[in-house]
Amino acid sequence: MSETEPARPVNFIRQIIEADIQAGKHGGRVATRFPPEPNGYLHIGHAKSICLNFGVAEDYRGTCNLRFDDTNPGKEDIEFVEAIQRDVQWLGFRWNGQPLFASDYFEKLYGFAVELIEKGRAYVCDLNAEEVRDYRGTLTEPGRDSPWRNRPVAENLDLFARMRAGEFPDGARVLRAKIDMASPNINLRDPTLYRIRHGVTHHHIGQSWVIYPTYDYTHPISDALEGITHSLCTLEFEDHRPLYDWMLDNITIPCHPQQIEFSRLNLQYTVMSKRRLTRLVDEGFVEGWDDPRMPTIAGLRRRGYTPASIREFCARIGVTRSDNIVEMGMLEDCIRGDLNETAPRRMAVLRPLKVVIENYPEDQVEEIEAQNHPQNPAMGARRLPFCREIYIDRNDFMEEASSKFKRLVTGGEVRLRYGYVIRCDQVIRNGDEVVELHCSYDPATLGADPVGRKVKGVIHWVSARHGIRAEVRMYDRLFTHPLPDAAREEGKEFTDFLNPDSLHTLTRSIVEPALAEARPGDAFQFEREGYFCLDPARVHGAEPVFNRTVTLRDTWAKIAGQGG
Ligand code: ATP
Ligand code: MG
Repeated sequence: MSETEPARPVNFIRQIIEADIQAGKHGGRVATRFPPEPNGYLHIGHAKSICLNFGVAEDYRGTCNLRFDDTNPGKEDIEFVEAIQRDVQWLGFRWNGQPLFASDYFEKLYGFAVELIEKGRAYVCDLNAEEVRDYRGTLTEPGRDSPWRNRPVAENLDLFARMRAGEFPDGARVLRAKIDMASPNINLRDPTLYRIRHGVTHHHIGQSWVIYPTYDYTHPISDALEGITHSLCTLEFEDHRPLYDWMLDNITIPCHPQQIEFSRLNLQYTVMSKRRLTRLVDEGFVEGWDDPRMPTIAGLRRRGYTPASIREFCARIGVTRSDNIVEMGMLEDCIRGDLNETAPRRMAVLRPLKVVIENYPEDQVEEIEAQNHPQNPAMGARRLPFCREIYIDRNDFMEEASSKFKRLVTGGEVRLRYGYVIRCDQVIRNGDEVVELHCSYDPATLGADPVGRKVKGVIHWVSARHGIRAEVRMYDRLFTHPLPDAAREEGKEFTDFLNPDSLHTLTRSIVEPALAEARPGDAFQFEREGYFCLDPARVHGAEPVFNRTVTLRDTWAKIAGQGG
């Protein structure tokens, strides 16, 4: 982590940890873990959890494990296992030792289940899924005991072993904890510990098991086996905490981590649940998990976000227990702030209009020096070739305009950035379309206005003979509704709120020749246009593709206000 990053703000979790260190709990040791399920790519919400878990470990000289919570094969995949590792590393964090897999604990977990059975605290239940639900009761009504609740220990042991041996079909039996069917906390009404799953091939352990432990059973024990001290999770697990503690209190294990909950990150104009993101990918609404419109880490990376900007965002949103929804503008501010300092300036004409400078010598080429970052001379300069034919942006020319339009008009003057003042003498048309401008330049104006004449407008340009053709992708928010998820309550689906204009592709853009040296992922400010990066996913093929990371200013609030 760079030294220029601000100190992380104190939050309630850090206060608990500091108090525990003071009190000598766990010998003053701090061990956290980040436990993703490998059933999708990581998203910006996970980044919050990553920055918290790894950040706490870093700051208190502790450790943070990366543990795949892989108890649910079928939806899980090795592709996701690999993507998650890549993304955590890219964010700038290093896990303790090797990546860990909950599925590597299956033998030990089985042993603890046997211990629970032997102690009379777990039983094999023959009710089917529907009956289990029915017996469980509701928030207002207590549950009823399963008829199998008082099976003798020996019978439970025998049946559980035969479940493992594959003797029974899926759904025939489950192993349940024997806790309290009348508990006001439904999670404690004899929760399922193991279910039978035949015929699945697990991405990490193959077909070695036909019974699979549940999350509620696996998680606390995995934490304890790893010697985790503080098990940080999101608020929806608050009601599971008594079960987390029950599990560890009822087996023989020397470690009892403390579960602490914090609120999830919710972000406007996007969706975050992996189920929804999977639908966007599978149903072709986006190009893939790394589509630059996705809130995934891979998408943000391809969009041009930097690890520092995402860490800064996580620092700014902080960690609390109150639910809130963060504005997209806050995330955009973080990358804008980062790139404003680090991105070299370049010129790119996104919608080219040819300009012929008729009084400029036909074979002459001049090299004009241009700063890479006007506020930071240390970033150096490059040379812009200038010749008789250049491109300017169509939006920088109007045949007639009010005096508020400070760019080029017929008969008017404008300054070319770093270059000369030109005047538009003639407009060449093809039907209604303006296809070319014939201009003249004033040789006395390179870099300075002549005495007695002030030219207000400055526009960017690229030499038509030296510029490079490029494709430029302008991204906007993926959804038109700030809360596409909540909008379901209005009788619509989140996909009904996809923004039809979330991607606008410009295929004929011309960028300055210095951009030929750009490497995949490199970021630039295209002057007057925004921040862009060379698409890391499309380097092959003739034409470079630039992704717009973010606009120069926050223009969305205004657009949204107009109902767009
Ligand atoms: P999703 O609902 O997106 O599928 P999840 O909680 O099922 O998320 P996991 O892979 O189980 O995804 O999450 C790994 C860790 O990341 C968990 O500790 C979880 O609490 C945390 N996490 C997931 N989403 C968010 C979020 N939006 N904000 C903060 N932490 C999150
Ligand atoms: Mg999950």
